[in-house]
Amino acid sequence: MDKYIIEAAKLLKNAKFATAFTGAGISVESGIPPFRGSMGLWNKYDPVVLDINYFHTHTKEAWKVIRELFYDFFGKAKPNPAHIALSQMEKMGILKALITQNIDNLHQEAGSKEVYEYHGTAQTMVCTKCGSKYHSSGIDMSILPPLCKKCKGVLKPDFIFFGEGIPPEAAHKSSQAAEKSDVFLVIGTTGEVMPASMLPQIAKQNRAKIIEVNVENSNYTNHITDIFLQGKAGEILPKLLDAINQV
Ligand code: NAD
Repeated sequence: MDKYIIEAAKLLKNAKFATAFTGAGISVESGIPPFRGSMGLWNKYDPVVLDINYFHTHTKEAWKVIRELFYDFFGKAKPNPAHIALSQMEKMGILKALITQNIDNLHQEAGSKEVYEYHGTAQTMVCTKCGSKYHSSGIDMSILPPLCKKCKGVLKPDFIFFGEGIPPEAAHKSSQAAEKSDVFLVIGTTGEVMPASMLPQIAKQNRAKIIEVNVENSNYTNHITDIFLQGKAGEILPKLLDAINQV
């Protein structure tokens, strides 16, 4: 077995508080491309649809893309072996928290419990007028925009748009986990999206060991990463789980 995987497995097994931090890369093998890069969704879609001002001024146009991308397309994705390996690590008592930038619910579908959704979720919608929340599966999206059943206000997905703040509870729990961690496992993220990208830095400042899994170098790799496991998350994480069971 790869010596770096063994080294990472030992760190995780001996950790008092290990946290995983995931980005779009972990869901690529579930069929959801990242936003950035040559295969990224921003080559096909205009990021303006996720700008909060555009949403308020061009609601129907924004909703057409939102429905296609985040409900028709993302909604069909299933967890892959990387999501499943992380949920196993939580069950084994190794991972204490999982911070995700993703909005696809695949960690929860894989069985992870202590999940902090830093950018919110597509699973619920919120009324922009009265604040009522709805599970997205119960919302009829055949006529756009979908409207609140109580006050007829426009519904918005419960993930954050450009120009919106991080959900306070997720922000607080994520910072706490980053500060407490002695091992921080960073998977499939470029480290370009602020303020999420600061979390591994916070962990590092608090002396956590940084283990990174990515197909290519990120902003972290040559700066704060202690062990870089290069490859696809869906291949590396099951190997890491096997190694944890063996060391
Ligand atoms: P990102 O920062 O999340 O970067 C994606 C990273 O994944 C890159 O570093 C890339 O090298 C890596 N990667 C690609 N395939 C991989 C694989 N199989 N295994 C491991 N790593 C792999 O960048 P982004 O896509 O621009 O995302 C911006 C924001 O939008 C983030 O918050 C992201 O989570 C969110 N987003 C979420 C989803 C989702 O919910 N699935 C999809 C796209 C974007």
